[in-house]
Amino acid sequence: MRRHLRPLLLTALAASCGMAFAASADQVPAGRLPAWAVPQSYRIAFKVDPAQTDFSGTTTIKVKLAQASDHMWLDGAELKVSKVTVTDAAGKAHDAKYVEADPKAGVVRVDFGSTLPAGEITLKFDYTAPLNAQLQGLYKVTAKGQPYAMTQMEPISARFAFPSFDEPGFKTPFDISITLPDSQVAVANTQQVSEKPAGQGWKTVTFAQTLPLPTYLVAFGVGPWDITPTAEISPDAYRSKPLPLRGIAAAGEAHRMSHVISETPSIIHALENYYGFGYPWDKLDVLAAPDFSAGAMENAGLVTFRDWLLLLDKDSPARNVRGSFNVTAHELAHQWTGDTVTLAWWNDIWLNEAFATWMQEKVTEEVHPEYRADLDRVRGAQGAMANDSLVSARSIRQPITGNGDIMTAFDGITYQKGASVIGMFENYVGDKTFQKGMHAYIEAHKFGNADADDLVNAIATAAGKGDDFKHAFKSFLDQSGVPYVQTALEQKNGQTVLTLKQSRYLPLGSRGDSQRIWGIPVCVRYGTADGSKVACEMLDKATGSVALPGASNPTWVMPNANAAGYYRFSLDKSELDALTKEVAKLSDTEQLAYADAINASFEHGDLDAGQVLAALKPLTESKTSQVATAPLGQLEWIYHHVAKTDAQRARIADWVKAAYLPRLEALGYQRKAGESDDDSLLRSTLAAALGLDYKLPEVRAELLKQGEAALQKNTDGRLNLAAANPDLLGDALGVAVQTQGKSAVDALIAELPQTSDPASRNGMLGGLASVEDPALAEQVRDFALSKPVKVGEMASLLRSGRDTQAQRDAMWSWFNGHYSQILARTGSFAGGFLPMLAGGGGCSTGEAQRLQAFFQPRINDAAGIARGLAQTTESIELCAALTAKQDPASITH
Ligand SMILES: [Zn+2]
Repeated sequence: MRRHLRPLLLTALAASCGMAFAASADQVPAGRLPAWAVPQSYRIAFKVDPAQTDFSGTTTIKVKLAQASDHMWLDGAELKVSKVTVTDAAGKAHDAKYVEADPKAGVVRVDFGSTLPAGEITLKFDYTAPLNAQLQGLYKVTAKGQPYAMTQMEPISARFAFPSFDEPGFKTPFDISITLPDSQVAVANTQQVSEKPAGQGWKTVTFAQTLPLPTYLVAFGVGPWDITPTAEISPDAYRSKPLPLRGIAAAGEAHRMSHVISETPSIIHALENYYGFGYPWDKLDVLAAPDFSAGAMENAGLVTFRDWLLLLDKDSPARNVRGSFNVTAHELAHQWTGDTVTLAWWNDIWLNEAFATWMQEKVTEEVHPEYRADLDRVRGAQGAMANDSLVSARSIRQPITGNGDIMTAFDGITYQKGASVIGMFENYVGDKTFQKGMHAYIEAHKFGNADADDLVNAIATAAGKGDDFKHAFKSFLDQSGVPYVQTALEQKNGQTVLTLKQSRYLPLGSRGDSQRIWGIPVCVRYGTADGSKVACEMLDKATGSVALPGASNPTWVMPNANAAGYYRFSLDKSELDALTKEVAKLSDTEQLAYADAINASFEHGDLDAGQVLAALKPLTESKTSQVATAPLGQLEWIYHHVAKTDAQRARIADWVKAAYLPRLEALGYQRKAGESDDDSLLRSTLAAALGLDYKLPEVRAELLKQGEAALQKNTDGRLNLAAANPDLLGDALGVAVQTQGKSAVDALIAELPQTSDPASRNGMLGGLASVEDPALAEQVRDFALSKPVKVGEMASLLRSGRDTQAQRDAMWSWFNGHYSQILARTGSFAGGFLPMLAGGGGCSTGEAQRLQAFFQPRINDAAGIARGLAQTTESIELCAALTAKQDPASITH
């Protein structure tokens, strides 16, 4: 949707304009809107019948003009405005003109017809617009044949729904009313306050005025929604009234929301306790969206989710149940960081997303400690490090130079790196001190906006820290990259000391400059006579050291104690051997940090594949499933890119089989009564790896049994999907698709349009995505572009099947032939994802070159393509460089 979005200049440039450029003011603002016209409040009224293709609206905005002017600027896209009236400060109404000054960007000018003095004016717009087909603005979706209209405004899509100052810095109250067919239901951010007949089968519902919100948090929906009975979240020390809570779903589905409704109060209480600040809105609705671009959206008081996250029952996959809790905690955390205190501008989206991610982990650790959110934090950070090792990585606070920077800001750097960096500085100042800083930050900026300085200053003040601390914190916000801490043990004056040297971590083959300095809180665990101790030091120069008092001699070191730091480390050979011997005694988070250090050394070219296999082996013994399975990713890379002969591949498969098959067989292939969800998750992780990646015959036989049973038709002609263990449905169908071929593919393609249950749909999509036969793979890719596959589901059919050059070549030529259809079905969010969809998994310079040749001329087709192209190309080149360095003979285990 590039063509509707506004190109933006450098933030610094935009900020420096402000009042100054307003005077000459006839240029279309290319950056932020000028600051001399500021909205004070909105009244937005809509007439919506989801069965139609268009809707109509009336928007009334009170605006404060700081200076006399004959026009003003705001945002609007695809709106057909029939009338604009401006009422001046004296109360006199004038006809005004709506000019689409930059339709491509969605910037409009309103000409008043004469110069109005500074003061408060009121603008009123009457318009019609299409119900959007790409899941943004006010968009249309269909569930079980019935149409619905709902909204997704973030980041810059409110302009498709109503004329507005569509930037996060403009927060005002909103009055929302909706005229809709009598038989339907409307929901919005706040409680409904009235419902009146509007004649000829229509009614008008009005909602309570909101507290100040930015446009991107405005939300509403119209359709035959099914709503749960209203539950109440009890008052507490921070909120005096019970909070009404409802679940909203497509017709007939609300009964499946009882699980999420039962979990939500504990999340709200945990957040209120942490922030010392009550949930501020007048109600909380959670809505299961029939089709949705993101995972979920934190609209104030009306939080929307992909339906599979909310529609749960006893047969739901354990992955969905756990995901539901984590995502709900994330979105509800936003009600404080994001909704109550809002980022001032998009370069600080981390103030929303990193904090919601960090807080979600805190809430999960408190309410569901068995979900091991502490390990999610470490794994999330390590996932972000792979991306952050690219020269083309974003920084957490990436300057906004265009719409692509807004669209691609919702990535692992913002979320997981951001959360890890927050956790690192929380660990450094202490969690109580950090909480004190957060209280002050929320209190100072509630119902307003904030930027990074506000946050960092609040924490520094609470901790009694000065510029060094602020500088260290910001060194992780304002520059990209992962710090690499190379360590060596020394004896100095009779004391054991670990010397530290920092640089930027760059993998083998990178063209980046490794000289970069952060302020890193480094904490080291080391061996003592009676166990271990931790010593910490702020490393804010290229080199430093940390004394290890009481260290045994010889000792061992884990240079990232509790995996609390966002950095990678290396040890020399003898120290790595010493740590490998101790690894089972480390905490689970530290064992994950150890695994990452092995991977970092391998990708740096310091360890060969054989050494990696040996060093990772002890982790497979862990009782903790996330630790035991941590080696799988690296193993798979070695399997596909290092092993050249069947014998070498067999050696790796044997390693995997010895490590994991007994564990899978002990779990069995069916759920056991009362088993932990961790067991259910481990079963599905192992079954997928052993059955589909390594193709162990004994595992495939079990999965095939379930897949064949699921493909049997019931008497009504529908597939018997319930015959498979719900945790294994996708993998079981995947093995069936690989074994039976066309009959299985045809059966799944016929079944999908008849199935509304999102978990069953995901299982079927997973099965189809495992297809291997080239002709059938082509059939599945074509199916991905057809109507029965929702826009939000399309990518799940196109991502996989990239292990071999032949598979990637087939995907590549299909992508070339269908590019315009893919682009047309892709929402504005996904532009940055297109290059990865086309060339992801590539591992040769030829693949990097063809990707560049294809996308360079198309770089403006969607916002975000430039960054996606740079990152995918670099990943392919690094894979090629690492592959070239390998000696398959090192695989001797
Ligand atoms: Zn979020």
